[in-house]
Amino acid sequence: MVRGIRSAVEGRTIVSVRACACPCACRPMLIEPSLADIDLRVRGQQVVSVRRRAKRVLMELGSGDTFVIEPRMTGLMLLDEPPSEAHLRVEWRLKGKGATTKLWFWDRRGLGTIRLLDPDQRKEVLGPARLGPDALEISEAEWREFCSRTTSVIKVALLDQKKVSGIGNLYASEILHQSKISPEARACDLKLAQIRRMAEATTEILNTAIKYEGSTLSDGTYRNALNKSGGYQNAHRVYDREGQACLTCERGTIVRIVQGQRSTFFCRVCQRKPRRPQR
Ligand SMILES: [Zn+2]
Repeated sequence: MVRGIRSAVEGRTIVSVRACACPCACRPMLIEPSLADIDLRVRGQQVVSVRRRAKRVLMELGSGDTFVIEPRMTGLMLLDEPPSEAHLRVEWRLKGKGATTKLWFWDRRGLGTIRLLDPDQRKEVLGPARLGPDALEISEAEWREFCSRTTSVIKVALLDQKKVSGIGNLYASEILHQSKISPEARACDLKLAQIRRMAEATTEILNTAIKYEGSTLSDGTYRNALNKSGGYQNAHRVYDREGQACLTCERGTIVRIVQGQRSTFFCRVCQRKPRRPQR
């Protein structure tokens, strides 16, 4: 999502930020401060950079303020025609580079959030006390430390954003499958070779996901900035494949279990749970 909007938005100047007149009775989404206050603060400010941080889009302005946009389940940042007029939430108008551009936030369910933070608030919201290190920037030593200190099962630990940020539910299942680790294994029971495989799989899978700019789930709501369906769903090996044959070992069947209220998909044949030593 970030890659799609970066080149169109960076270096441009904000003309206005306003709410879209959504014709349906949408669930109101969280916007802080109010859009009227945001508009006053950011008019005339240049967008210095657009970055991804964990599952957020950061739009950094010349004034030092940062838009922190969390798409959550169904939000989209769009430059092109939105999927529907309904559920269009916020419109940024940007000028520079010869033409005026519009950037939209579209959200069917209204679970996304848009916040404008000053540098102190940003430290508080995105600092290490609130958000663990980005999964794409963790060293092998940090992964070892993460595992040795964590007694919960590895699948739940991977989703704990205070420990490691940026791994979504779908990707956690894919990472564990590729590393041949049972989602039911405790993080602290993982062997060094497993931790190495998990570190490698995390980098590979998250980078592939970024390349495809997100996954399109069966309801089609997660798409990239130019409103084309993402391509990663074709690369899922376990997610949403309950009851189907395992593509990796061709012997097991993909099962679905629930851990920490989230679905986990895996193959019991190639992702065996380690035997715990008898005590
Ligand atoms: Zn298998």
